[in-house]
Amino acid sequence: MAHRVTLIPGDGIGPELAEASRRVLDASGIAFEWEVVDAGEGVMAEYGTPLPEHVLESVRRNKVALKGPITTPVGSGFRSVNVALRQELGLYANLRPARSMAGVVSRYDDVDLVIVRENTEDLYAGIEHMVGPDAAESIKIITRAASERIARFAFDYAVANGRRKVTAVHKANIMKLSDGLFLESCRTVAADFDGKVEFEDRIVDNMCMQLVQKPELYDVLVLPNLYGDIVSDLAAGLVGGLGVAPGANIGTEAAVFEPVHGSAPKYAGLDKANPTAMILSGALMLRHLGHPAEADGLETALRAVVAEGVATTYDLGGSAGTAAFADAIIERLAAVSAAR
Ligand code: NAD
Repeated sequence: MAHRVTLIPGDGIGPELAEASRRVLDASGIAFEWEVVDAGEGVMAEYGTPLPEHVLESVRRNKVALKGPITTPVGSGFRSVNVALRQELGLYANLRPARSMAGVVSRYDDVDLVIVRENTEDLYAGIEHMVGPDAAESIKIITRAASERIARFAFDYAVANGRRKVTAVHKANIMKLSDGLFLESCRTVAADFDGKVEFEDRIVDNMCMQLVQKPELYDVLVLPNLYGDIVSDLAAGLVGGLGVAPGANIGTEAAVFEPVHGSAPKYAGLDKANPTAMILSGALMLRHLGHPAEADGLETALRAVVAEGVATTYDLGGSAGTAAFADAIIERLAAVSAAR
């Protein structure tokens, strides 16, 4: 039976990346029925909002969405569609794998990290105010419920994906109450996985240094919102940057898979943008839907094309456009599937 998935193409380079990703996923051996819905600036005039209710309804109904990047106006204008989606759908876990790829220029060749970021609280709860004219205060919220939930997500992910270790990242030496509670919650959950998944913790500043010096020592990292935001970009930098960084936002009722990069307006419609991050997000979606073999196949095909560096986009050293890059992956997928 085909999986019914909401496809939000997005804007800027989003539509061409979405089309390339959809074609590659359709060649993965798993059947999809795509429900295409639009969000962002283009629908403002018609619906008065960048995130119309029928888009949310579609994701709620299908429980899974693949999404292209959406432009957020700076300063004034509507709030980020991405943030709104996370809040409306309760997508509490941000999952960002960072794995080295042959053919992608970076300082390391053996990084294989998975960053699990808490998506709902911490300093991102948005509770800020001025204290008189010359001081401002932001409130950091950490709860046991959200911390245990994200820790459990990280451990469950580790078990489901054959990962050996979870590292909790914090600053509990200074923020003894808030980060202390996060760490304590991680320890509580870790006890349930004793003997199955290793557990350790690191102070966030030391973690950053260690990731730069010896990233191969780490496996799954679980972090509160702010550190997760920063460290996941650091991890993306270790493996070659935004063009190859996939992501997912996952909740109990729905999951949205999307590249980490933005809508790169200057490349919109030019058939130049690199579809790797969105295709890898599609591979994450395949795993989420219970198809690890097909996800592996898709990643193997993509990696082979990237390693050759010929039928890739310009940023990966090739001379192909977005669509031709996707064609090369599809061709390779046929060979990978036949060999399985
Ligand atoms: P960006 O990721 O769009 O671009 C940063 C740089 O990377 C640019 O030089 C761009 O050309 C390049 N780049 C990004 N993706 C690429 C790809 N797939 N192939 C080749 N080159 C690529 O970041 P930005 O310029 O800060 O943001 C542009 C818009 O995207 C903004 O409106 C921002 O709010 C939005 N945005 C959306 C999301 C999302 O929808 N999840 C995420 C980040 C930014």
